[in-house]
Amino acid sequence: MSFEMNDDMKKWAKDLMSGLGIGAIWAPEGSGLTYKKMSDDTLLLTKMMNHPDVLENHARFTTIMMAIGINMAENEEVLFDAPANPEEAYMLEQQHKIDIAHGWKCECGSKLIEMPHETFTPRFLSSEEVLLENGDTDVVEIWGYLYECPDCDKAFNVDPDDYHLMAGDKLFMRYKIDDKRVMQAMTRREMIQAAKDQTGVLVGDACPITGGKVPTWLWGTYCFVVNSDEEE
Ligand SMILES: [Zn+2]
Repeated sequence: MSFEMNDDMKKWAKDLMSGLGIGAIWAPEGSGLTYKKMSDDTLLLTKMMNHPDVLENHARFTTIMMAIGINMAENEEVLFDAPANPEEAYMLEQQHKIDIAHGWKCECGSKLIEMPHETFTPRFLSSEEVLLENGDTDVVEIWGYLYECPDCDKAFNVDPDDYHLMAGDKLFMRYKIDDKRVMQAMTRREMIQAAKDQTGVLVGDACPITGGKVPTWLWGTYCFVVNSDEEE
C-alpha cells in the first residue's frame, strides 16, 4: 500500500507532540500501540500488538514523526500477542487502560489512583451542541469530577471515563443528593432483590428527591438512597 505524506499529517503530528507533557502516555483506543513522550523531540514505543495492521500503522506513524524531527525510540520487548477473541480483546483493552491510569499524576507527583475517589462527586460543566451523522444536532451534557490533590491542594477536572477507570463501578454509579446522602445505582442482582422487596427509586434525567440534574450515565437506573454514615 502506498503512503503519501502531506502537510495535514505533519500539522497533526506537531499538534499531538505539543499537546503531550513529558512523561505522558499516548495510546489511541483500539490501536494496539502505546507511546511515551520522553522529551520534546523523543517518542518511545512501549507496547505494540503483534498484528500486521498494527505494525504497518506504527511504521507510518514513525515516518510522519521523523518528518517533523521527532526521534522514535523503542523499548526492548514491545510486542504482545493479538487477542484470540472479542472477550479477550476487551479484557486486554481494559487492562491496558488501567495500566495507563496508574501512571496519572498531579503536578506535585502524587498519583491520582491513590487519591480518595469516594470524596469526589460528579458535577455538571456545560451543555454542548453536537452534530449527528444524519445532519441533525443534539445537545450533550459535559460532566466532570473536581479533584483536589490531598498533597498540594491543586484542583483539577477528571473526565468521567477516567474516574470510572480509577474508582471502579460502584463509585462511578452514584451521585451526591446532599451532604448526608448519595444515590447509588443497583447492580442487576440488587434489582432482583429490590423487585421482591418493593424498594428502590427509579432515576430519570432529574433527581426524584431534589429535582436537580442527574449525571447522564445514571439516567434510567434503579437506585438506593444511601446515608453516607451508614456505609462500611
Ligand atoms: Zn498535587
